[in-house]
Amino acid sequence: MNIYEKALKTWGKEPQMLQVIEEMSELTKEILKNINRKKDNLDQLVEETADVEIMLEQLKCCYHIGTKVEEYKTSKLEKIRQRLEEWEKTHDNTASGN
Ligand SMILES: [Mg+2]
Repeated sequence: MNIYEKALKTWGKEPQMLQVIEEMSELTKEILKNINRKKDNLDQLVEETADVEIMLEQLKCCYHIGTKVEEYKTSKLEKIRQRLEEWEKTHDNTASGN
């Protein structure tokens, strides 16, 4: 049993899924502070990003969707790659140095 499964078993699925939401809202708050208030909060962004990633791992364990998420990510990243390629064809990148 990995640490994510153990956390789920120890503290329960519902509390841990609520923790996912809590951590996502903490990350949201730090992003907003950074953008809207120009706050120098890189340490908080690092911390909250790690918290969210840890909780997303538990979410995948909780619903047994790790493999499907990986498959979807692969196809989504391929679509993004194609869109970027199209973007580059239709936009002049010389100004940005690319
Ligand atoms: Mg947090």
